[in-house]
Formats: sequence, structure tokens, C-alpha cells
Amino acid sequence: MSDPRKIPAPQPNVENQRFFDAAAQGKLLIGQCDACGQPHYYPRATCPFCFGATTWVESGGKGEIYSLSTMRRGAGAPYTLAYVTLDEGPAVLTNIATDDHDSLAIGQRVSVRFTPTEGGPPVPMFAPEGE
Ligand SMILES: [Zn+2]
Repeated sequence: MSDPRKIPAPQPNVENQRFFDAAAQGKLLIGQCDACGQPHYYPRATCPFCFGATTWVESGGKGEIYSLSTMRRGAGAPYTLAYVTLDEGPAVLTNIATDDHDSLAIGQRVSVRFTPTEGGPPVPMFAPEGE
């Protein structure tokens, strides 16, 4: 993959530092509610469904494309933004890292790939399985 697009460094804060620390180790963390059991993304201290307390859990990092939009103009184009539905259930707004944007399709299987940023922690993107 030869994506020349520069990815700005995220600015971790006290609430999401753990997420980016895990990302640096190649782990994608999601939240899971201690009360109702529902997984969610992004991880947060309070469950978005029932306001219960939550636990950080590691996602398997696999899912499928729910929707996508390929940008064909501007800096770094082409690149593809997508919602990926993780196998655990939550949807993640992300980028699809590929050299073949035209072959991407809704329902396609993808897996997480951590992408370097400009001087910050890596961010999770997704690539077609097998790429
Ligand atoms: Zn809950």
C-alpha cells in the first residue's frame, strides 16, 4: 500500500490515552457495558445505551464495510472513508487502506491495520482481508 496521505497526529487526552496506548501495541479497544453487556465504540466511561459503568475490551479487529465513500479530489486523494461494522457489533467511522479503491464494496470483509501519524500514536484503519 502506498498511501502518501499524511495523517495528523491524534491528541490523546486523559479519557482516551488508554485507547492510543493500546493502538501503539497493535490492539483495537472497544467498550463493553458492565450492566447491559452491550459493546460500543468509541470506548467511554459510561454506557451509551444504559449509562452503566464500562470495561475496555480488545476487539478482534475484523468486520465488514457497512458504507463507504471514496474521495477522488484534494490532498492525498484517492482515499476511502467508511463505516465498518465490527464482528462484535459496533460501527467504526474509519478509512480503508488500499491501493484499489474501485474494488471496495459494501459487505466486504476487512481487518484493522494501524497506520502511522505525523508524530503521534498510530490510528486504526481497515484493509481488505488478505491485503
Ligand atoms: Zn449498558
